[in-house]
Amino acid sequence: MEIKIIERILAANENAAAENRELLDHNHVPALNVMGSPGAGKTSLIERTIALLRDRAPVAVIEGDIATTRDAERVAKLGAPVVQIATGGECHLDAAMVGEALANLDLHSAGVVIIENVGNLVCPAEFDLGEHRKVVVASLPEGDDKIEKYPLIFSIADAVVLNKTDMAGLVDFDIKRFRSELDAINPKAAFFEVSCRTWHGLDEWAEWVAPRAVA
Ligand code: MG
Ligand code: ZN
Repeated sequence: MEIKIIERILAANENAAAENRELLDHNHVPALNVMGSPGAGKTSLIERTIALLRDRAPVAVIEGDIATTRDAERVAKLGAPVVQIATGGECHLDAAMVGEALANLDLHSAGVVIIENVGNLVCPAEFDLGEHRKVVVASLPEGDDKIEKYPLIFSIADAVVLNKTDMAGLVDFDIKRFRSELDAINPKAAFFEVSCRTWHGLDEWAEWVAPRAVA
């Protein structure tokens, strides 16, 4: 019984995701789904990306949070169009929520849409939002053991961004170990070592985001 319900939820989500993708493609706008733990630096990465792509591909943002509009306010301060989704307790975004948000964005003038998912390494991995590429943000203070503990989300990522590299030496994090575990589970993922605080490594990341943004 329960399995049937879950199947139905995921099937409905797939239809909504396909509609989102169609709408984005129709407007020639690529979309990224940014996932990661609370505090990994998803919003900081989005803030930096807005700044770095300002002249090439204006970033429009969808902010998913269980509560508060704090992240949306940070993004709005930079002048980027932003729609907040308050999930009201849900620990992930689904495609229907994102569809409503997309309807409230001017996709015509956007160069790229970045969706910040709810901070969580588990169920966001299960829900296709209609995005073109999935990104996982991880960070040094979280520890270097997360890939084997949360294999699904890392195995479906098109890119993994390792943030807070400026904390190397302050926390025990074996970047080589992290990298080799990622290679074992998902050798095709792009990998970026960055610090949103010092801007280290962010140009390469922006290059990865940008090519498809020039539509
Ligand atoms: Mg955030
Ligand atoms: Zn969830």
